[in-house]
Amino acid sequence: MELEKHYTNRSGWLRAAVLGANDGILSTTSLVIGVAAASDTRSPIVLAALAGLVAGALSMSAGEYVSVSSQSDIETADLNREQIELTTIPDDELKELANIYKARGLDSELAMQVAIQLTKHDGLEAHARDELGINEMTAPKPLQAALASGASFVSGGLLPMLVSLFAPIKYMVIYQYSFAIVFLALSGIVAAEAGGSNMVKSIIRICFWGTIAMGITATVGYIFGVKHS
Ligand SMILES: [Zn+2]
Repeated sequence: MELEKHYTNRSGWLRAAVLGANDGILSTTSLVIGVAAASDTRSPIVLAALAGLVAGALSMSAGEYVSVSSQSDIETADLNREQIELTTIPDDELKELANIYKARGLDSELAMQVAIQLTKHDGLEAHARDELGINEMTAPKPLQAALASGASFVSGGLLPMLVSLFAPIKYMVIYQYSFAIVFLALSGIVAAEAGGSNMVKSIIRICFWGTIAMGITATVGYIFGVKHS
C-alpha cells in the first residue's frame, strides 16, 4: 500500500535546512564576490570565504538556538499553567476539553465521555495536544535546531569556499555567481519537491533574489576596488 505522504512532519527541520543552505550559499558568496571584485590576489578571497562561513554558521546556530529556546520556554510555561488549572479548577478544565471535542463535531454526551476518559488517562497530555496544540512531534528542540541550521549553513557555504580555492582569479566573480545560481536553483528544487510546492516559482524566486544580493555586493566591491587601485 502506497504510504500516505504527509509534508507537515518534514516541514520543521526541512525549512531550517533549506533556509540554512541557501543562507550559506548566498551570504558567503555575496561576501566573497564583494572581496573578489576589489582584489586581484587569492588569499583575501579565501580568507573572506572562511570568515563568512564560520561567522555565518555560528550566528545562524546561535540565532536558531535562542529563538527555538524561547519557543520552548513559552510551551513549558503554558504546560505549567495548564497543570495548575487541572489541579485547581478540574471541573472547568473538563468542560473546556469537552467543548473542544464538541466543536470538532462530537455530540455533547460523547464529547464529555471522551474528555473524562482522556483526562483519566493523562489530563495534561490531552489539554496540551487538543487545547494548546503542543505535541511530541512538534516540540521545539533548541540544540537539534541549532545544529541543523549551523550544519546546513556550512553545507551551503562550502561551495563559495571551494570555488575561491580553485577558480581562476580573473574570472572569480563570474565563477562564484554561476556556481551559486546553479546550487540555489538545486536547493529551490529540493524545497519545492519536499514541500509539495510549485518548482518553477521556487527556482525563479531564489535565483532572482540571489542575483539581486550578489549584484549589489559585487557593485560595492567594484566601487571599493576602483577607489583603492
Ligand atoms: Zn485547559
